[in-house]
Amino acid sequence: MTGSAPSAPLSVPPGSAPNNATYDPLFQAALDGLHADGSYRYFAELERRAGNFPQAFHHGAGRDVTVWCSNDYLGMGQHPLVQAAMHKALDETGAGAGGTRNISGTHHYHVELEKELAALHGKESALLFNSGYLSNWVTLGTIAGRLKDCVVLSDALNHASMIEGIRHSRAEKRIFRHNDLQDLERHLKELPPDVPKIIAFESVYSMDGDIAPIEEICDLADKYGAMTYLDEVHAVGMYGAQGGGIAQERGLEHRLTVIEGTLGKGFGVVGGYIAASRALCDFVRSFGSGFIFSTALPPMIAAGVLASVRHLRASATEREGQKRAVAYLRRRLDEAGLPYIDSPSHIVPVMVGDAKTCRALSDELLTRFGHYLQPINYPTVPRGTERLRLTPGPLHTEAQIDDLVAALATLWREKGLALRPAA
Ligand SMILES: *Cc1c(COP(=O)(O)O)cnc(C)c1O
Repeated sequence: MTGSAPSAPLSVPPGSAPNNATYDPLFQAALDGLHADGSYRYFAELERRAGNFPQAFHHGAGRDVTVWCSNDYLGMGQHPLVQAAMHKALDETGAGAGGTRNISGTHHYHVELEKELAALHGKESALLFNSGYLSNWVTLGTIAGRLKDCVVLSDALNHASMIEGIRHSRAEKRIFRHNDLQDLERHLKELPPDVPKIIAFESVYSMDGDIAPIEEICDLADKYGAMTYLDEVHAVGMYGAQGGGIAQERGLEHRLTVIEGTLGKGFGVVGGYIAASRALCDFVRSFGSGFIFSTALPPMIAAGVLASVRHLRASATEREGQKRAVAYLRRRLDEAGLPYIDSPSHIVPVMVGDAKTCRALSDELLTRFGHYLQPINYPTVPRGTERLRLTPGPLHTEAQIDDLVAALATLWREKGLALRPAA
C-alpha cells in the first residue's frame, strides 16, 4: 500500500511575497485536486458496540451497521479478557505511562509484553513502539541510516511506513518487483559483496491478500549476505500455531533478522514492535530517535495487549473461526458469481474496477442494506483495480455473510456489473 498520491509541491504565486492569506488557498487547491480525481478520503464516524462485534453505530447513516473492513481481524479489541486486563491496569496504574521509556515511562507491563513478544517469535528480544508505523519507520530508518553504505532492497508493494523509514535513513534504495525472486536476485547480484544489505518485505500483503515466498527470499539473503526485515502486520495473531504469523506457520522465524508486527490489528489494541536479536533491539532502543523521544504507551495498553497475545498463543479458536468465515464467504461469492481475488489469506478483495462505481456500491450497501465496506480506490490500489476489501472474522455469522452476499448480488444486478459464471 503506497498510501499517498504523488503530487507537485505547492508554490506561492511567482513574484508575490507570501502573507498570512497566501497559504490556505494553496492547501485548498491541493484538496480540490483530490476531489477532482476521486481520491479525497471521507471518514466514516462509527461507535463500535463492545460485546456486539462486528456491529457499530454509523453516524452518517444514523443506524447500526455490520462492519466488514475492520483490521481488528479477530475481534480481540472487544475480547472480555482484554477489556478486563485493561480495566484492572487502568485502576491500578492510572491512565498514562508518565514519560518516555528512558525517563520514568517503563512500566512492568511493558517489560512483560516485550518478553512475551520475543517468545512469540522465538527471538532473543523485542522492542515496543507506539504504533506499527513507527516500528517500521524507526527501525529501518535507524539501521539503514547507521550502517555505512547500506542498501535497502524493498518490495514494490511495501507499506508507506517502510518506504518512509527507508527514505528517512537516506540509504540507497532498490525496489524489486512485487514478490519477484528473479528481480530481487538481479539487484542483489549488481551490488558489491562488501556493502551491507537489507531485504524489506511483508508476509501477507494487505490489498491483494497474497503472501511472500519467505523461504526463497531468506535463501537469497543468505547467498548475498543480506539481512531480512519482515513486516508481519497482517499475519500476527492469525497464522502459526501460536499466532506468530506466516514465518511461524512455515517454521522460518529463525531465518529472519527482524520480524515486525502491530498490536492494533489481529491483537486488537494499539502499538507496534520488532522481534530480533538482543543486540539489534538494543541498538534501535539506544539510537532510534522516534523510539527514545516519545512518551511510552500507557501501561493499561500494554496490559491489554499482553492479555491478547497470551490468549492467542494458547487458543486456536479465533484463528479457526476466521478460516471458517473466510471459506464460507468465498463459497457464497462463488455461488453468486461475484468477482473476487482468491487469495491464500483472510483478505477477500471483491473487484469493482472503477472508482465511482466502487464508492456508489459502498454508499448503497451502507444506506440501503446496513453493511459498511470502505471503498478502496487509487492511490491505495492502482486505477482499474478499485475494490471492496472484506475481512470476515470469527465473529461474523453465516447469516450476516448471507445477507451481505445477497445485497452485493442485488447491487451487481441493478448496476449491470459483470458476474462470473456461478460455481
Ligand atoms: C497498518 C500497517 C502498518 C502500521 O501499523 P499500525 O500499527 O497501524 O501503525 C505497517 N505495515 C503494514 C503492512 C500495515 O498494513
